[in-house]
Amino acid sequence: MHDFEVTVLGCGSATPSLLRNPSAQLLNAAGHFFLIDCGEGTQIQLRKNNIKIQRISHVFISHLHGDHYLGLLGLLQTMHLLGRKTKLTLVCPPELKDIIDLQNKHSQTTIVYEIEYIFTNPKQAEKVWEDDKIEVSTFPLRHRINTTGFLFKEKPHLKNIDKEKFKEFKISVSEINKLRLGLDALDERGNTVANAAITLPTHPQRSYAYCSDTNYYENVIEHVKEVDLLYHEATFLNDEGERAKKTFHSTAEQAATIASKAHAKQLLLGHFSARYGSTDGFITEAQPIFANTLVAQEGTTYKII
Ligand SMILES: [Zn+2]
Repeated sequence: MHDFEVTVLGCGSATPSLLRNPSAQLLNAAGHFFLIDCGEGTQIQLRKNNIKIQRISHVFISHLHGDHYLGLLGLLQTMHLLGRKTKLTLVCPPELKDIIDLQNKHSQTTIVYEIEYIFTNPKQAEKVWEDDKIEVSTFPLRHRINTTGFLFKEKPHLKNIDKEKFKEFKISVSEINKLRLGLDALDERGNTVANAAITLPTHPQRSYAYCSDTNYYENVIEHVKEVDLLYHEATFLNDEGERAKKTFHSTAEQAATIASKAHAKQLLLGHFSARYGSTDGFITEAQPIFANTLVAQEGTTYKII
């Protein structure tokens, strides 16, 4: 089974503080290094956590509030100065390209590596990227400006053949591919051999959802149904419920409600307002609604199981 784990690099909202960095996470999905959001200070956080900057193949930006992308221009420049050779893919709102182009124009910089853009659509869910192991899609969130969430999902694993049972059946080698894909096969006499009779059970497809800035938005539920790990912002506690509403953010209770209604397996809260020194209150508020809740801690890696 391949790696599937997320390291939180920043879990604070609005401004960098001595306590927390702005949003950024590094998702290792089957050997791909995906950076999700890139607040100020992300480069330093990557270094502190011994993550090789040039191994990042994709950056996913949820929206263009500064605390989610202001670290990106610096990161792109560092990749340039270090002589990056491989393509970098940015999955982001279209306006981010204007910002990057303007920066490069006025600094008279020609980036030495290729940047590929895949633009997100804030109006509807869309698949934005896939390979043979992982599929990534976006879905709309409800915030002050266009914002998308991201869903990272493993593709069905190829099945392994039970070698002992394989000996019992007379099956040609060409039929093995069918079995590995989960289909039934034919034996040499043309009889059907049920897939389950000859293959080993596979691990279920794991998934991770990232819901950055949003207010309480039930449309999210269908997109994150039964997700293994749901990251959902909880900028405030209920005592600031009105403020949450006004600023299009969520409370811990609202995030837990989304996790519960979506039947997520685990909830990870983040994007905490600097007014909260301790995150204990977030657990106290969320757990009665959704027991399997964690609060994000910078430098901690969460396995998706
Ligand atoms: Zn925002």
